[in-house]
Amino acid sequence: MKDLRAELARAPRAVTSYVGGGFVATHGAPIPVIDPSTRAVVATLHEADAAEVDRAVAAASAAFETGPWARASVADRQKVLMDIHAAILDHADELAALETLNTGIPLRQTRGMHVPRAAQNFRFFAEFINQQGGDVYTQEPGYLSLVTYDPIGVCALIGPWNMPLGLTAMKMAGALAFGNTCVVKPSEITPLTLARLFQILHDRAILPDGVINLVNGSGAVTGAALSGHPDIDMVSFTGGTETGARILTALARGIKGGAMELGGKSASIIFADADMGRAVDGAMLGSFMNNGQMCLAGSRIFVHRSVADRVIDEFATRTKALRIGDPFDPETEIGPMINAAQLDRVQSYVASGLAEGAKLLAGGKPCEGSGGGFYLEPTVMRAPSNALAICQEEIFAPFATFQVFDDEDEVIARANDSRFGLVGYVWTQELERAMRVSGRLRTGTVLVNTPILRDLRTGFGGVRQSGLGREGAKGSRAMFTEMKSTIIALQPPALPRLGI
Ligand code: NAD
Repeated sequence: MKDLRAELARAPRAVTSYVGGGFVATHGAPIPVIDPSTRAVVATLHEADAAEVDRAVAAASAAFETGPWARASVADRQKVLMDIHAAILDHADELAALETLNTGIPLRQTRGMHVPRAAQNFRFFAEFINQQGGDVYTQEPGYLSLVTYDPIGVCALIGPWNMPLGLTAMKMAGALAFGNTCVVKPSEITPLTLARLFQILHDRAILPDGVINLVNGSGAVTGAALSGHPDIDMVSFTGGTETGARILTALARGIKGGAMELGGKSASIIFADADMGRAVDGAMLGSFMNNGQMCLAGSRIFVHRSVADRVIDEFATRTKALRIGDPFDPETEIGPMINAAQLDRVQSYVASGLAEGAKLLAGGKPCEGSGGGFYLEPTVMRAPSNALAICQEEIFAPFATFQVFDDEDEVIARANDSRFGLVGYVWTQELERAMRVSGRLRTGTVLVNTPILRDLRTGFGGVRQSGLGREGAKGSRAMFTEMKSTIIALQPPALPRLGI
């Protein structure tokens, strides 16, 4: 643990922008960057204003129009993506420590999962683009019709605070793989790992100048300037649903598209025939991984009446036993919440749940943890109906609700009674039931008998207000390319001759 803390000595103390191949001298309005496990200020972010965003977009635009990247061969792009993969893995300990410092996510998760996954995104797309082609249609005699997938141009990549490196790396890998240039905007709450990654990539001179640019700052200033910029070609956004709507409004003015990975309130349905040990283990992970701050948290748990008391009792007992504390401690299972606002928000949901008739089974209060951070006792409530705010709104915290159901149709209707539709979890040993229920859940992904699992070959994304578009493989291709049709007359029939 000591060694990893020592790695943090290299953490950026002043976070600025990276434009056209160089870091920008600090001058923007300062925003403190906090370690949520101690509330200490660990760095200062200097906000990029509209003029700085303009310079970053201009650099990305110039690199796209006149630089080598958009025209690079697949082999050259593959090499760059694999070099980024190696760079991340070479700095995995340091990046994981930084991610933990800035997010409070336990180190065993950032080191064991998030950083390797960030690297894997680049490797995946390096392999994927080698298998990609276009389409050829020859059905029309005398004509050849081609469909190609051209890079879309300058991509604005805007990320959230809950998994800053992994989620934004996914966007960068996809955008670069298809020959685009980009401007990345991390959350102002958690800018440290991406700032460090840009430094690492700069030191290794992996990419031509201007292909990747970084702007840091708040959503209202830097984010709005970027998403409303006339010279970006698309936005790939991960964050809250309301922010996504704001960005789509800005894009609509320029008749541009955006891929939106938004909020969720995912149902986890435990049928009476489930492997109960696995279902409870999975539901615990689905609610409490990443300190419960996960878009795909399966925190709205439905359990069949015949097994409800046993399952809820075990879940609540184990929730009370979760090890809360210093995220750098390898034994820690739950670190701090991201900030004071989030801590207050969770408590207001406990109060609203109680007022609407829910029963508090575990947690619900701030607790000491270690170091004076934003610690919260993981919370479990039993809700009498799906209409309660705690069952309808995304709380984004270690906060699970239980509801009891009697039959399949009823639970599907209640699971689908949500404005969100990110993931549905189904726990059953009956294959036909699993297929039946999966088919009826209105979500972008269904996971059967497994908690959180991402397979990059499949698309990830939401329906309803959980988003637009899919990330991964062909979903990312659709997001980061323009489909172009080229129709060539080879031995065409004579044309009617107008005006003769
Ligand atoms: P947020 O919407 O507050 O912020 C996300 C990003 O948008 C930040 O970088 C922020 O600065 C920026 N932003 C804010 N206003 C903006 C504007 N007007 N224009 C452009 N950018 C703007 O979200 P958050 O609190 O950082 O993240 C939590 C949310 O993200 C949750 O709702 C969660 O479900 C969602 N999320 C979704 C996925 C997914 O894959 N579907 C994954 C992770 C998180």
